[in-house]
Amino acid sequence: MVIKLVLRVRAFRTECRSLSGAASARRLLMPARETEAIILKTFPLGEADRLVSFLGRSSGRVRGVAAGARRLKNRYGSTLEVLSHVQLWYVEKETRELVRIQQAELLESFHKAQSDYGLSTGLAVISEVSELVLPEHEVSEPMFRLILLSTREIERTGDWALPLSYFAFWTVRLGGWLPRFDRCSSCAAPFGAQPVFFGAHQSGLFCEKCRYPGMKALHFEARELAERFTGERLDRIAFEPAMRSSAKELREASLTWIEHHIERRLATRELLETA
Ligand SMILES: [Zn+2]
Repeated sequence: MVIKLVLRVRAFRTECRSLSGAASARRLLMPARETEAIILKTFPLGEADRLVSFLGRSSGRVRGVAAGARRLKNRYGSTLEVLSHVQLWYVEKETRELVRIQQAELLESFHKAQSDYGLSTGLAVISEVSELVLPEHEVSEPMFRLILLSTREIERTGDWALPLSYFAFWTVRLGGWLPRFDRCSSCAAPFGAQPVFFGAHQSGLFCEKCRYPGMKALHFEARELAERFTGERLDRIAFEPAMRSSAKELREASLTWIEHHIERRLATRELLETA
């Protein structure tokens, strides 16, 4: 009787061991996932690795580790530069929040923008805003296309003025944070061609009568540019020097609304003034 019991306990233990063995084998053998992705940001991790935040077309925003990416000779090359458009292979681990990045291949190079100080400032703003507004693991095809289009246009035109304005405006629009552009958020008076006002502590647009002290003006031309942004693709809008101040006003208003909604200041925003 006693012997039988011992045998049963042994059998049970063996079963448990083989079960947990199977589970860990499954963890090790989890198949690699593949996604088209945009590199949002990377941070040094330990001596040799990099922590990478990326927006996968099929995975949403994910964080992972690129092992050995800080070594002089590494298998990632220039694929982990900010806003690089890549094909990524990674492995998810059941128990960890970070995925392991196995391989990255460059689909499209933005080398000119990434290596120029002035242009890279524009990329840094796109990177910071995307990182802050995109929820983790949520697929966002419109934001994926917006980031890609804006980055591509900075690279192609060698100027971030219009692309960044378009990016900020559409981020506000996609976030559902855009106020009405035709009437006052406070008194509902129609705007007409008069300048209207925006500020850091309100999410709306205000008429001359309702404006708060310290608010900045958004002129009629900037609102017309917003209408063009709504109906035309960025790469089909020809940038003329006369549009520069409208693009700036619209960018400033949009970044202000983004800051209002994420409830924090963008660290990269002031770099724009000096770039
Ligand atoms: Zn008003």
